[in-house]
Formats: sequence, C-alpha cells, structure tokens
Amino acid sequence: MASLDSVPLSTLQVGYGARRNSTLICAPVMAESVDQMVEQMRKANQLGADLVELRVDFMKNFRPRHDLEILIQYCPLPTLVTYRPVWEGGRYKGDERKRQEALRIALEVGADYIDVELKVAHEFFDYIEGKKPDKSKIIVSSHNYQNTPPVEEIGDLVARIQATGADIVKIATTALDITDSARVFQVLVHCQVPMIGLVMGEKGLISRVLCAKFGGFLTFGSLEAGFISAPGQPTLKELLDLYNFRQIGYDTKVHGVIGNPIGHSKSPHIYNAAFKSVGFNGIYLPLLVDSVTSFLDTYSSPDFVGYSYTIPHKEAGLKCCDEVDPIAKAIGAINCMIRRPTDGKLMGYNVDYLGAISAIEERLKGLKGTNHASGSALAGKLFVVIGAGGAGKALAYGAKEEGARVVVANRTYDKAKELASKVGGGAITLAELENFRPEDGMILANTTSVGMKPRVDDTPIPKKALKHYSLVFDAVYTPKLTRLLREAQESGAAIVYGTEMLVNQAFVQFERFTGFPAPKELIRDVLARNA
Ligand code: NAP
Repeated sequence: MASLDSVPLSTLQVGYGARRNSTLICAPVMAESVDQMVEQMRKANQLGADLVELRVDFMKNFRPRHDLEILIQYCPLPTLVTYRPVWEGGRYKGDERKRQEALRIALEVGADYIDVELKVAHEFFDYIEGKKPDKSKIIVSSHNYQNTPPVEEIGDLVARIQATGADIVKIATTALDITDSARVFQVLVHCQVPMIGLVMGEKGLISRVLCAKFGGFLTFGSLEAGFISAPGQPTLKELLDLYNFRQIGYDTKVHGVIGNPIGHSKSPHIYNAAFKSVGFNGIYLPLLVDSVTSFLDTYSSPDFVGYSYTIPHKEAGLKCCDEVDPIAKAIGAINCMIRRPTDGKLMGYNVDYLGAISAIEERLKGLKGTNHASGSALAGKLFVVIGAGGAGKALAYGAKEEGARVVVANRTYDKAKELASKVGGGAITLAELENFRPEDGMILANTTSVGMKPRVDDTPIPKKALKHYSLVFDAVYTPKLTRLLREAQESGAAIVYGTEMLVNQAFVQFERFTGFPAPKELIRDVLARNA
C-alpha cells in the first residue's frame, strides 16, 4: 500500500480562507437588451466573479456609445468588451469597420479590457493609432473550433499574438482528447506575457480549472448551467464551490476520476469537499479519458498523483500500474491509483470489494435468523452476482473471501464462466437467472449498469424471481432507489444501496489520497445532498 506518511504535512495542507492564485474568473453576459445585461452583471457580482465579459454581439439594436456608457457605468465589476464576429464564432454579421469603431469606443468610455481577434489585430492597432487609456488592456484572441494544434504551433501563435502589441494573449482551442490541454498548459507556464489558454469542449474541462495552477490570466465561469459562451464552460458556482478554484496553487496536487462517460460522477463533489474540510492541498476532477495509457503518459508530472477508476477503464488502469495489490490483481481491475511520492511509481488498488462487502455484511447482521456469531455474516450464503465486469469481479472475490458460495450470471456467458471458475463458483446465463432458485434466502448483487440513469425503468431480473432472495444489493447508485431495489423491497428482501459501496470505498480512497482519516460524516452528507 502506498504511504503518504513520509510527506511533511506543511506541503499537503493549505489555509482554505486565502486565495492561492491570481487567475481571474470572468462571467460572460449575453443578453439582447441593456437592462438584461445589467441584471446579469449584478448576478455575476453576487456569484463571485472577478470581471464580466460583455458579449455585445448578442445585443439587439446595439448602439455602441450609448449602450457601452451605461453598461460600463453600471457594472459592479471590471469589464471585458467582446464584439465577436461570425467569422470567429460570434454573432456579429455587420460591417467590420463599424465593429472596430465600437471596440474603440469601448476603450474611450472606460472598458478595462477589450477582445480583438488576431485576424484583425494589426488593422485595429493601426486604426486606434496607439491611443488607448492606460488602464485599458487589449486581449488579442485566437479561437480554433476544430482541434488543438501541436505545441510548437501554439507557441508560434502566441508569438504572433505578442507581436501585434497585445497586452494579453488569448488562445482557445478545441479538445478532441483530454491530453490536448497538456499542450496548452506547457505554453501557459512558459508564456512571458499574461495569457488566457483554454481548451473548449467537455474533454477540455481540466484546462478551465487547472489554468489556476499553471498561471492562466483568466478562466470563464457561466452564470448558470447551459448559459455558456463556449463549449465546456463550467458555471461560476462549480468553479468556486465544487473545484475550490481560489485555493488552487502552483503546488496543488491533481486527482480525478478516470472514466467515459464521467459527467454523472459524484466523486468530484465528495473528494473536493473532503479535501477542503481537512485543508488538503489537492483538487479532484472528472477526467473524460479515451485512452488511459496516453492520459498517464501525458500527465506524468509528480503533481498528478491520484485517480479513481470507473467504467470502462478499470481493467486498462490495472495494465498501466507499476505495482498492483494482490486482490486487484486477482480481480483484474483497479479502482484506485496512487503515484507513490518517493519514486513516482503508479500503484493500483481495488477497494470496491471492501465497500460493497462491508455494507452487505452490516445489513445481514441486522436480519433475523442470520448466524454471525463467528466470522462473516456471508459465510455459507449463496451469493448471486449479476455481471462479470470490474464491480462483478470485486463482489465475487469479496464474497468468496468471506466464505460465501458464489454464482455468476452475465450477459456474455463466457465471462461468467471465467469469473466463476476463478472464485470456485458456478455460472449461469441471464435467461437462467429468472428461474434460478436452488434455495431460499439467497443474496443478489447487481453489478451491471442496467437500471442506471437515464434508463431507470430497466432491471436485470424479473420481480417474481426476487422472492427467493433475503438481501439484494445494487451497485448502480444513480438513482439511489433503482427499480431492482424497489421491487426487491416490495418482495420482502432487505436492500443495500449502491451509495453504501460508494461511500465505504470513498473513505478508503480518501485515506490513500491524503494520508488523513476520512471525514465520514461529511462524505455521507455530500453524497446525500447530491443524490
Ligand atoms: P464494467 O467493468 O464495464 O462491467 C459492466 C458489466 O455490466 C458487464 O458484466 C456487462 O456485461 C454488464 N452489462 C452492461 N450493460 C448490460 C446490459 N445492457 N445488459 C446486461 N448486462 C450488461 O463496469 P463496472 O465498473 O463493473 O460497473 C458496473 C456498474 O456498477 C455501473 O453501473 C457502475 O456505476 C456501478 N458501480 C458502482 C460502484 C459503487 O460504488 N456503487 C462502484 C463501481 C461500479 P458483458 O460482460 O456482457 O459486457
């Protein structure tokens, strides 16, 4: 097991009151009228933004001098005026000279920042003849909606932007893969002028959060979910409350959950809140990964330290480990990976089985007629596992470890047979499951994703078969009460929620990530609040 004991706490703990980076959070406001813009600016201020981007290309009947004077005067925060043309992904379709005149007026009436697209930056600087108020800064921007170029090309782009006379460089590219953000980070840390470096799209989320670690000038946070000016933008609330953006420093340790899809994961809510509660200098992100190998090869610096693994990467994760604990090796899947601080080696663990098995044992102990005077309450029970993936293996090995007799049912029968032979149990098809009743009082564990949101009406076994089970566990935890668990309850079985597996294994992972005891109550609360 990896130990963080040897790492002095001073490098791991931070004061969560203080701001630990200078990266600004900018809220884009996009409305059709001045009044709506003013209302959104106020909201941005209340939600904790540092500045607002006035996307005047969204306004109907925009009268530059008149409207900008009002907007800038009434804005409770510094302003960035952007008048994005359609040819750079915005809405303005009119005359280019009029657009540049509006940007010039923005400078004249007191905008703190204006955004000028690289394609016309030289023309604009000639047009204003170097005349701009000292307090105003010009951001020269380049947007690539197709991809993220190689690092040399991004470097060249930065040089071209700098050469225009820009005060601030802005490069926004598009993520085709999570590793694309690494090239932007590489340029960000070496850039000699203030730089905004963001990678758009869901796979670019980490660029929008970790820019605080790598010295980005600003990031964008939307007023509400879906109200975004570019794909993949988090909300202000997510940046501030979920990712603790103000507390990210250059030395913050990066963690995350590796999966695909990953948007539904509650893990970032759990670990970020738990890190904060003990003052741990870490961040935890959802990591939408296509290839585990290329993710780990790309983010190989010592600050990328700990991962949870979920569908479909638990088995690929194991193959990337330098060392694997014996149970994870037997299961053939990991759900936790730690970069050992002493030598950077990647250590793999499987703590799924600990979470689920202990929750099932606890519940069994509360049932009448269960003899647990000596050993596990699972000893001697017939334990039916549906599924033979990562969670299925964890449950099958865990149940076997506690002395249960295991039967595996799986859609792909060969996998059921393979797992059953490893745990010395039996294998059946999903069709056989319906009439499978060698005895009453069996235990059932669903470890497939059947019944998971959005397909909440699905269930892996007909209700009539459930009467032969005394306890039913469902690894699915979105929703908490799945159709399987509801029907099991109606059939008289005790139930164990998937959230119990999640919560128990979260305690173990937290302790491995941080070296601190898990704040158990807080983790339970966060899970309940985000259910
Ligand atoms: P996995 O390794 O990809 O395995 C998926 C399993 O589900 C396989 O056995 C697969 O059968 C089966 N399956 C998938 N779709 C199916 C369908 N439509 N009908 C029948 N069987 C189907 O995934 P995993 O990591 O084991 O995760 C499985 C579930 O457990 C997920 O819902 C996950 O969220 C949940 N989980 C929960 C926790 C927790 O803490 N509560 C922890 C881990 C996992 P084939 O072999 O035929 O493909």
